[in-house]
Amino acid sequence: MCIFCQIVAGKIPSYKVYEDEKVLAFLDIKPVHPGHILVIPKKHSANLEEISEEDLKAVMIVVKKMGNLIKKKLSYAGYNVTENNDPIAGQEIPHLHFHLIPRIADDGLSNWTQREYADGEAKEVLQKLTS
Ligand code: AMP
Ligand code: ZN
Repeated sequence: MCIFCQIVAGKIPSYKVYEDEKVLAFLDIKPVHPGHILVIPKKHSANLEEISEEDLKAVMIVVKKMGNLIKKKLSYAGYNVTENNDPIAGQEIPHLHFHLIPRIADDGLSNWTQREYADGEAKEVLQKLTS
């Protein structure tokens, strides 16, 4: 049983923020900033490919609720929603989870670097995606 399934089962403790039939939200044990929340489906799915659309809808509704709490109850001006989908993307716990990371002005966190498309590259990739 994965560590988040153990949290769902109550076998290991967590700081539970919200729970319903399909979804659990709890504090990340090592927050970027206090109030960093993880939202997970109760049914084990490793990633976005595995979760059912019905469960994903329920999870995203809770992501929205938790974002409201971060702003209204903790007075943050904004937050990032991140999901590391698979180990190559930085996923360490193999149970799908959305991070809500509260942000503070000039907190030094930066997103990834971006680049320009080469000539014809965007067209080529679009062709692959939509064919
Ligand atoms: P990720 O790299 O996207 O898989 O993120 C996993 C997150 O889970 C990390 O931010 C950890 O701090 C967090 N985490 C690991 N174990 C626990 C735990 N027992 N309770 C709460 N958060 C945890
Ligand atoms: Zn699990």
